[in-house]
Amino acid sequence: MTRETQPPPPAPTDPYPESRRTLHDFTVWMGQAAGEKQLFVQGPEHPLQHFQGDAVQHGPLKVLQCPLSSHNAKVLREILPNLKPQPLGLATSAGFGDRLGVATPGHVQALQAVGGRIRPIFAQQSIREMARTGRTPQQVLDDATWGAFQAGWTGTLGADADHLKTPEDIDRCAAAGFTFFTLDPSGHVDNAAGRDSAAVLQEKLGQLPWAALDTSETDLQRRYRALRLDLGHRTLTLDEEAITRAAVKYLPAVQQIQALFQHLQGKNIPFELEISVDEGDAPTTPAEHVFLASELKRLGVSWVSLAPRFIGSFEKGVDYIGDVDLLNLEMQDHALIARRLGPYKLSLHSGSDKFSIYPIAMHHTQGLVHLKTAGTSYLEALRVVAVTAPDLFTEMLEVAKQHFEEDRASYHISGKLDRVPVQPGNLPALLDHFDTRQVLHVTFGTLLQQFREPLMQLMEQHETLHLQGLREHFIRHLAPFAGA
Ligand SMILES: [Zn+2]
Repeated sequence: MTRETQPPPPAPTDPYPESRRTLHDFTVWMGQAAGEKQLFVQGPEHPLQHFQGDAVQHGPLKVLQCPLSSHNAKVLREILPNLKPQPLGLATSAGFGDRLGVATPGHVQALQAVGGRIRPIFAQQSIREMARTGRTPQQVLDDATWGAFQAGWTGTLGADADHLKTPEDIDRCAAAGFTFFTLDPSGHVDNAAGRDSAAVLQEKLGQLPWAALDTSETDLQRRYRALRLDLGHRTLTLDEEAITRAAVKYLPAVQQIQALFQHLQGKNIPFELEISVDEGDAPTTPAEHVFLASELKRLGVSWVSLAPRFIGSFEKGVDYIGDVDLLNLEMQDHALIARRLGPYKLSLHSGSDKFSIYPIAMHHTQGLVHLKTAGTSYLEALRVVAVTAPDLFTEMLEVAKQHFEEDRASYHISGKLDRVPVQPGNLPALLDHFDTRQVLHVTFGTLLQQFREPLMQLMEQHETLHLQGLREHFIRHLAPFAGA
C-alpha cells in the first residue's frame, strides 16, 4: 500500500496562541472555525468526555471542537481551576465591568503589561446593568471565563456581583458562581441626617430598629463618646450630635447589610463581601466611616472592602471632579480607618478615568485598595465604532442624545446635552469629550436594545483594534496600582 499523500483536511485556524494550556496529557486552546470562536481539546478520551462538542480532524490530530457554551465554560473552570472565581482577600485588586462580554482579553493584556500583583475581577456587573444589557449572572461569568482563557490568564480571579440589594439578587449570583458580593444598602441610607433639625433627628432616632440592632441610644452614646481613634496626625472623636446624625444616617443600612450578610453565610459558599455606600448625595465623613464600620463589626459582619461616598464627585467615565487636596486629606483618614478597624480595602466605585487621584489612593491605602470600573470599557467599544463605522456611530449618538435626559435619571453625572459637539470633525475624539462620554455612558441600555447586533459584529471584525484600545486604556488605570 502506498503512503497517503493526500493533504490533511483544512485545520481550524489558531488565532489565539496565548490560550493554549497543556495539562497532564491533554491540551486545550481557543481557536476559530466556521466564523466562530471555538474551544479545542486534544488528548485521550477521558477529559474529552466532559466537554460537549464534535470530534474533528485537526491536521494529524483528532480533536474535539466545542462551542463556547455555558456547559463547556463550567467544564473548563473545573479543568483550569484558576479560571474559577475565588475570594481574593486583601490583595490590591481591580474590577473590570464588561457590558458587552467581549472586553476581558483586553483587560488581561493590560494586567500582563503592567505586571505587579493586582488581582482581577473580570466578571463584575450590577443587577441593574444586567437588566439593561439583557444578560444573566451566568452569562456575565461565562463571558469572563472565555475572555480570560482566550488571553491566557493563569492567575487567580474573582467575580463581583455588584450593587446587590436583595436576598434574591444574592441567590441568582451565588448560583452562577460569583464569589465577591457588593452589598448596596443605599435605599436605607438617610442622606438628610446631616442637615435635619434636632426635632426631626429625635423623631427619626425613636423609629430606629433598636431591638434588631441589639443596642440602644444610651448604649450608642456611651460607646462612641468614649472612642478615641488614633489616626497618626490626629485623634478622631465623636460628639453627641455626630453620633446621633451617624446613627440616623447609617443604622438602617447597617441592619440591612447584616441581614444580607447572614443570608450569604447561610449559603455555605466561599465568598467575600464589599460594603458600598458610594451612591447618595451626602459624603461619608471619616467619623461616619468609623461609626458604620464599628457597628457592622459589632453585629458580626466581616468584609474585605468598603466604598465610602468620598467628597467631590466620582462621575461615570470622567476624571475626579472636586478639590484634589481636600480629597487627599479625606482619603488619608479613610485609609487609616480601614487599616485600624479592619484591615480592609477602600473601594473606589465609578473608579474609571480618575487618573488625577490614583496616586493619592495608592499612597494612602498602601495597596489596600480595590479599583472598580465598568462603563469605560463599553466606551472603548464605541471608539471602535467611531473609527470603523462612522455612519453607525453617528446614528447611535443621535439615539443616545434623544434618550439622555430619561436615561440619566439613575446616575450622578453633570454632563450636558447642549455641550455635545453638533458637527464634530473627528468622531473618535468624541470619546475623549466629557459630555459626550457621559451621554454615551448612561444610554447603553437604550443603545444595546437597538444596535446590539451591528455593534457585536463590529467587535468581532475588529477584535484586535478593540483589544489594543482596551489594553492601552487600562494600562493607564492599572499602572498607578501595580506597585514595584
Ligand atoms: Zn458603586
